[in-house]
Amino acid sequence: MTEKRIENLIIVGGGPSGYTAALYSARANLEPLVIEGFQWGGQLQNTTEVENFPGYPEGVMGPQMMQEFRAQAERFGTRFITDDATRIELSDGGLQRVWVGDDEYVAKAVILAMGAEPRRLGVPGEMELSGRGVSTCGVCDGAFFAGEEVIVVGGGDSAMEDAIFVAKYASKLTIVHRRDEFRASQIMLERARSVPNIEFKTPYTVEEFLAGEDGKLRAVRLRHAETGAEEELAVGGAFVAIGHIPRSELVRDQVEVDENGYVVTQGKSTRTNLAGVFAVGDLVDHTYRQAITAAGTGCMGALDAEWYLRDTPPSPEATWAGRSGEALEATAEQAG
Ligand code: NAP
Repeated sequence: MTEKRIENLIIVGGGPSGYTAALYSARANLEPLVIEGFQWGGQLQNTTEVENFPGYPEGVMGPQMMQEFRAQAERFGTRFITDDATRIELSDGGLQRVWVGDDEYVAKAVILAMGAEPRRLGVPGEMELSGRGVSTCGVCDGAFFAGEEVIVVGGGDSAMEDAIFVAKYASKLTIVHRRDEFRASQIMLERARSVPNIEFKTPYTVEEFLAGEDGKLRAVRLRHAETGAEEELAVGGAFVAIGHIPRSELVRDQVEVDENGYVVTQGKSTRTNLAGVFAVGDLVDHTYRQAITAAGTGCMGALDAEWYLRDTPPSPEATWAGRSGEALEATAEQAG
């Protein structure tokens, strides 16, 4: 029978929240194992300059900052698996199991830190032209469209923020939104309205992204949401800014989530409805979604997990030889 190591703590996700949870729990001698994802670094991996993370007065590139988060966690003994979790089996107070392909990892506690990803329209051409004119990150890609006509799709604060940023480069920018009313805050809406090269086109939906002969975006097909009339708008760039979806697909059926799929935590803590299962970062938070707030909840998750491991008596399912904090060996049979 093969020996199976029972970890103290597995952290699933390699963004600001996951790495901060790793840093804190590593310093608490929990020897965390981080399943950081093949594309570790989270959404900041797709960002250029970060100017609003305290401690970097000159700003820092997103990928550089994530490298530094990771290195700091590693310094205190964090171990990493640079691959995607493919299956998670949560338990209420028992052993938590995470698979990466055929490899199974078992722990006494787990911190879910899988983040969120940009929502897509799901129309023809969107994925095919991604990176060839269609983008979900204005801040990352806006500068590539200097002097071009572009659209931003969406009516929330993200769309306004992207539009204001991208309009610095584009010759003309049209905000396409499916309703006449906007979800964006008044201040963001007014800021966008005051930019001379920003226009609004409502209520329109984007039905298709059309490629030119060079394989890049050349136009979008728009549909009037009320009359159904269609028209083509020639653009070199299109930024889809219609919100985010939490990456909770592996746990959605096991842990409490809200109507949008965000994991629900208890009060001000990172505790979920399952003992030994904690959730942090954008997987939980659809409001603030900042690197600094994600990092803050990562810290909270590590402390919550540490207190759980210290104070909670082992359940019959989770058999291990002691509770000294170090990772312990058990047989596969003991691990269940
Ligand atoms: P959001 O507020 O949920 O807005 C999403 C927008 O996309 C809505 O206008 C929605 O239209 C539209 N939309 C969604 N699905 C669509 C679809 N399939 N087709 C067409 N349009 C679609 O998301 P967000 O703008 O990303 O903002 C999320 C949170 O972050 C908010 O709390 C926001 O205030 C905050 N935030 C703040 C700032 C800032 O203050 N600087 C910047 C960014 C984000 P409907 O309105 O018709 O549903």
